[in-house]
Amino acid sequence: MSEQQQVTMPETAIPVSKAVDVVVIGGGASGVAAAISAARNGASVLLIEQRGFLGGMGTVALVPAFCPFTDKEKPIIRGIGLELMERMKQACSDEYRHEYDKQLDWVPIDAEALKRVYDDAVLEQGVELLYHTFVSEVLLSADGRRVEGVVVVNKSGRSFIRGRYVIDATGDADIAALAGVPFQKGGEQGELQPGSMCYLLANVDRERFAAYLAESGDTGQLHRTVERAIEEGALPEGRKSISGLAWLGGNLVGVNFGHVFGVDGTKAEDLTRGAVEGRRLAKRQLEFFRGYVPGFEQAHLVASGEQLGIRETRRIEGDYILTGEDFMAAREFPDDIARNAYYIDIHLATSKGTMHFTHLPPGQSHGVPYRILLPLGIDNLWVPGRAASSDRAVQGSLRVMPNCFAMGQASGTAAALALRMNGSSREVDVSRLQALLVEQGAWLGERYDQQAMQSS
Ligand SMILES: Cc1cc2nc3c(=O)[nH]c(=O)nc-3n(C[C@H](O)[C@H](O)[C@H](O)COP(=O)(O)OP(=O)(O)OC[C@H]3O[C@@H](n4cnc5c(N)ncnc54)[C@H](O)[C@@H]3O)c2cc1C
Repeated sequence: MSEQQQVTMPETAIPVSKAVDVVVIGGGASGVAAAISAARNGASVLLIEQRGFLGGMGTVALVPAFCPFTDKEKPIIRGIGLELMERMKQACSDEYRHEYDKQLDWVPIDAEALKRVYDDAVLEQGVELLYHTFVSEVLLSADGRRVEGVVVVNKSGRSFIRGRYVIDATGDADIAALAGVPFQKGGEQGELQPGSMCYLLANVDRERFAAYLAESGDTGQLHRTVERAIEEGALPEGRKSISGLAWLGGNLVGVNFGHVFGVDGTKAEDLTRGAVEGRRLAKRQLEFFRGYVPGFEQAHLVASGEQLGIRETRRIEGDYILTGEDFMAAREFPDDIARNAYYIDIHLATSKGTMHFTHLPPGQSHGVPYRILLPLGIDNLWVPGRAASSDRAVQGSLRVMPNCFAMGQASGTAAALALRMNGSSREVDVSRLQALLVEQGAWLGERYDQQAMQSS
């Protein structure tokens, strides 16, 4: 290891700028749902986000659509996540609503509508928002088992925010890592799923594109066009499917296509390279679309993600690690706080790699236990979302936004329950938590529906 130069900074006292019951760090799907649910259940909540808006990958990185809320037969992600998606639909154009009003799977994201919906939804609930603020340090209690609060850096300076309970919704487990929680990152050789620079194209003739797909009589047409473009050098090697075209109405389409390899989203240098390479790739793809794909001849690139979309970084080690076997067995747990039916979707780590998909049959889902939100060694911290405690296979499934909403709602509700009894995350009465989640719209499986009916 090369010797790193070091400087010693003077020890300084910093002001305590706020003190609240629950501090939520990160305003993606998991953080928004966590903040709303904690506030809804009586806690004072501060939501800290480094950007000037909420939404995480769905707005920051322009991920173009919500993954399915159903198991192909019924909605299984309900509660706050479903509420927010339905609110976004209502905030979209008439044309958008006409097309997607009844749809629950692969609903396109109108990022500007979603940002406003999230602002309103958290503020209505009494959540205090702090944008443009980065959490850089944590302070632990003397016994090392509690996060006393977080150090933030923003335009106002450096300050300390005290929280009785903390929810790490950074997607990267930044807070847990700072608190010394053990974690895994990527595969056995440290390989990580690639990032993608998503973007929005205007001036696309959707009817002409649809006619081109219909003419070929099968869905492989686009795939073969991509293969030809790779052979001819118009596109780099790598992902061959354009899986995510999300039509927002008129001539506007969100695109999730192509990969940037070797980016560790917990390193600023990698994120910088990812941003530059991602934008270059988006430009190359624009030229491909214009030259090879009927309907896209006049396409115009109106926006790319503020950041390269990051699929995978840290996974905390929690009280339980959810595994691929649990997924395959559609296992249920006594402490389930959500259900997951999304397929395992692991993207290639290098341009020569392959994609891995594993589906559950329609109508099936597995349980998501409370324990995967509880980082080892810390008693007042929850880690919902992309960094929750799972093996790599399950992370490839659990990481999608509907699941992040559900894990966020469970974390916020649990934090509010812990507050009521002045106890730790591990002392929360799980049956009380489950009952409250069901009462507040979440779906934990048929047996909880029956319990709710019997007790009503
Ligand atoms: C290219 C790509 C395509 C995808 N496609 C889909 C799809 O089609 N549908 C789907 O549902 N999901 C999709 N996903 C997955 C999904 O978008 C993410 O896994 C999900 O958004 C994770 O939610 P989260 O709340 O855990 O974290 P994030 O969405 O990453 O949100 C974390 C938030 O925390 C903030 N933050 C991080 N660190 C700090 C800090 N130290 N201080 C302050 N703020 C901080 C970030 O700015 C961010 O806003 C895709 C992901 C990628 C990258």
